Amino acid sequence: MKITVIGTGYVGLVQGVILSEFGHKVICLDIDEKKIENLKNGILPIYEPGLKEILDRNVLEGRLKFTTNKEYALGDAEVIFIAVGTPPGDDGSADLTYVLQCAKDIGQNISKYAIVVNKSTVPVGTGDLVEETIENELMGRKINVEFDVVSNPEFLREGKAVNDCLRPDRVVIGTESKKALGIMKKIYDVLYINKTPFVFTNRRTSEMIKYASNAFLAVKISFINEMALLAEKVGANTQEIAQAMGMDGRISPKFLHCGPGYGGSCFPKDTRAIVEIGKEYDEDMSVVSAAISANEKQKKKIIDKIIKEMNGVENKIICILGLSFKPDTDDVRDAPSLDIIKGLIENGAKIKAYCPKGIEETKWRLEKYKDKIQYCKDEDEASEKSDAVVLVTEWNQFRGINLEELKERMKGEFYFDLRNVHIKNCKVRSLFKYYPVGQR
Ligand code: NAD
Repeated sequence: MKITVIGTGYVGLVQGVILSEFGHKVICLDIDEKKIENLKNGILPIYEPGLKEILDRNVLEGRLKFTTNKEYALGDAEVIFIAVGTPPGDDGSADLTYVLQCAKDIGQNISKYAIVVNKSTVPVGTGDLVEETIENELMGRKINVEFDVVSNPEFLREGKAVNDCLRPDRVVIGTESKKALGIMKKIYDVLYINKTPFVFTNRRTSEMIKYASNAFLAVKISFINEMALLAEKVGANTQEIAQAMGMDGRISPKFLHCGPGYGGSCFPKDTRAIVEIGKEYDEDMSVVSAAISANEKQKKKIIDKIIKEMNGVENKIICILGLSFKPDTDDVRDAPSLDIIKGLIENGAKIKAYCPKGIEETKWRLEKYKDKIQYCKDEDEASEKSDAVVLVTEWNQFRGINLEELKERMKGEFYFDLRNVHIKNCKVRSLFKYYPVGQR
């Protein structure tokens, strides 16, 4: 099958690579010339474990190509995936500019029946808008080309994206067209044979499934963070609370880890977007709204706690370990580290920061604070002569830190372990003034 994937970001690139691994002929289209030039030279725009090996193999075997040429990519494609960004607009609603530009490009270039598959996370009803936009362009060209628009939301997790696309928990396909459904089944033949669960539904339900899933996970995180704040005060242990709660099959232990609040490119924007969709339809999404405020409060509480326990941070050197919003990715979009760094700097601190992959992306996002941040080559340099260490992201390499050596390098004795990475280390409390999350 000849497939084009529009957008070579975290979703589009992984999707394009995996579809080529499934045996399809895939063209990845992007408007970013530099990204495409790099991809042609085997340089990936994102860090995603395991992706490069599969990409290189499929390029070599002639199944995967990269281009900025819309006519070449869209002209005779059988299936076109839209995987471009849907960032939050000023009011928090999803900005559909990029998705609708893709629809225009498709309408201006397709020459025969194609199915247009929306992978971007979009408000309910966007499929209709995409359809209208393509139709308008075709009318402008005075030609009649049949097409179907399908919703097929993406659930991959950054850092685990390759595995998630090769072995998804489920595939959701939203379409009312039998013809399109048949083609979608063929695209995912490999998964179908491997007994991956499929949900076939209408387009609007499929669009909403994605927002409902992300909003639910965000609520779960905010819920356990709220329990953690109380547990710290009453002298209870949130890890044990979460463990016992998770043994209940109705609850499950996943997403019950307290920490500095959720971040990343999806939960913050998707929760805000569904609240805005609710407003449009006069539905007050009070549970999701509460999760958003709890998440903001969580980050603020962490900053306040650091300042309080250190008796102010004016001119203190704080070592931040981990900038990306989670381990194994270079993505720092809406990462808690950004708010924590800003909050500490605004209270007079100087920052020494290290992250295995997130430094470059952080540099331009925190450009305004650049005089107050020193980016370091490793955790040793970052912790040297620091008054406090704040572990924000639980990269595996931080788990193996030698705590005695860490303490010797530091000037101070504060260790704020926002991911409870060293909570079970018997020496941690004797070496540091140690502050985990969700217990004393
Ligand atoms: P991204 O910002 O990493 O990538 C988007 C890419 O699209 C960029 O390379 C950009 O240059 C390109 N692009 C924009 N307009 C274009 C156009 N008209 N033609 C061609 N290319 C164009 O975004 P992402 O993180 O991959 O997210 C894409 C969508 O998938 C979003 O809606 C997001 O919510 C959703 N999603 C993301 C994740 C995730 O973990 N990142 C998971 C599930 C769903």
